[in-house]
Amino acid sequence: MTNLNNNVAGVDTDFDVVVVGAGFAGMYMLYRLRQQGMRVRVLEAGGSVGGTWYWNRYPGARVDTETMFYSYQFSDELQQEWEWTQRYPSQQELHAYAKHVADRFDLWPDMQFDSPVEKTTWSEDRQSWTIETTDGALITSQYCVMATGCLSAVNTPKYKGLEDFSGSVYHTARWPEEGVDFSGLRVAVIGTGSSGVQSIPVIAEQAAQLTVFQRTGNYVIPAHNRALDPEEVAAIKADYPALRAKASASFSGNYFPVGGQSAMAVSEEERNREYESRWQEGGLAFMAAYADFMTSEEANETASEFIRDKIRGIVTDPATAERLAPKQLFMCKRLCVGTDYYETYNRDNVSLVDVSETVIDEILPEGVRVGETVYEVDAIVLATGFDAMTGALKRIDIRGVESVSLRDLWEDGPRAYLGLAISKFPNMFIITGPGSPSVLTNMIPSIEQHVDWISDCLTHMRINGVSRIEPELDAQEEWVAHVNEIADLSMRSTCSSWYLGSNVDGKPRIFMPYIGGFPAYVRKCNEVVEAGYAGFAFR
Ligand code: NAP
Repeated sequence: MTNLNNNVAGVDTDFDVVVVGAGFAGMYMLYRLRQQGMRVRVLEAGGSVGGTWYWNRYPGARVDTETMFYSYQFSDELQQEWEWTQRYPSQQELHAYAKHVADRFDLWPDMQFDSPVEKTTWSEDRQSWTIETTDGALITSQYCVMATGCLSAVNTPKYKGLEDFSGSVYHTARWPEEGVDFSGLRVAVIGTGSSGVQSIPVIAEQAAQLTVFQRTGNYVIPAHNRALDPEEVAAIKADYPALRAKASASFSGNYFPVGGQSAMAVSEEERNREYESRWQEGGLAFMAAYADFMTSEEANETASEFIRDKIRGIVTDPATAERLAPKQLFMCKRLCVGTDYYETYNRDNVSLVDVSETVIDEILPEGVRVGETVYEVDAIVLATGFDAMTGALKRIDIRGVESVSLRDLWEDGPRAYLGLAISKFPNMFIITGPGSPSVLTNMIPSIEQHVDWISDCLTHMRINGVSRIEPELDAQEEWVAHVNEIADLSMRSTCSSWYLGSNVDGKPRIFMPYIGGFPAYVRKCNEVVEAGYAGFAFR
């Protein structure tokens, strides 16, 4: 790279800021930094913008958060002019929205695609980062922002024989752009999290035979997806700022009714009426019916049993229904939202194999072996999720002060101050990193809050003539202890889920996101600023 200029701090770098990732976080970060007159380069591994909504192109992929609120709010013009067509738009519509944002704000010239970042190294002498892409190109910048996503590092099980399988293997999060035609094929889907739940009904319609391998049955609430009614859209748009503010004031940053009382404070009849109403309404709002699902096993069991009964009512084969009925706590894993998920198991061409006890032993050229049984298939779909929250960062060789490696520092679990920055990694920020509410909230508002915080921090630094920021170790450790302490109060920390890293072999078991809710977290971030960026050291 040649373009060496004196940057804002008088340090010679190619750019003021390199942003890694051109998903919703990276795009908005670029927009804000450019507004501040910064020279920015966004490096993206994929071939276009959108992050999650670029990579996850599997059949049936669509957002499970109401899109009128799962969208940017930083520009009123944008939110007024963009026309969402469905309550839960498809991946294609979300990707089109991401491209529209890049067009509308002229973001393309500062973004570089097909450029996976391999290594980033801090130089104390130069007071800058050197960022290396897989093709060997080196770029220097004063700041580095990791907008690498919480669910972007693909988790592929290390099955013996997988590479010798005679058919095709696909991962839901790396789906071929040209799509896949399963007509006439025998297909295996491994995994029944959100990606499996969304893809299984669509694949079942096309494949000759579909065999689903389920390790853990999940709670799936019907989406009741539908076209948005123009009047409803107009009403929301007319009142957007107030409605967005209401969503931001809720625990998960979502716009849906939140029940503030215990599930046990009402009669069984009233409780079931509430559950039925939320089931009929559809979507994630089911999880907010009562306040104590994560603190009372008794309350939790009422919701679990309601959903299990629904499964028994939908699935005609009782043995299949019992296999599908989840055994773990409700909301232990991320709640799934589906369309005809349980109904799909009534199809003649679909069967369910329980691999919770007798596991998948190996993949043979002709199919999947579980114990003594070989399931012959022509294609395998891995809906096996992600190395969540830390995977995308640890897959980059990130070197901080004195060449300390982030991989080594996070060997026993992530440690970050507010999920925003890491001690020993000066001038580096993470968007929705571990220790922030991120995946427990509506992601786009959480992204916007982090991007705004980082932009304001950089403005503060410029005004005050400082050019180096790093969290103090004590402040970071105190925050990490707080994150762990409140996680321990929730039954969520007792489960197996990707929130805890338990889906990835060898990953330390730590509840990674901040569980105290979006409003409490935003308050804390604001207090830090009001106290002169308490817990950060400037130079
Ligand atoms: P996931 O929730 O982690 O589900 C992965 C599935 O694969 C689980 O059923 C898991 O079983 C199974 N699995 C993993 N390794 C396995 C192995 N070796 N053998 C057998 N089964 C194995 O991943 P995901 O479905 O991709 O979803 C991840 C997250 O992405 C979601 O929770 C959600 O936050 C987000 N997402 C959102 C949407 C949406 O907005 N609509 C769609 C997709 C994903 P265990 O449960 O036993 O580990």
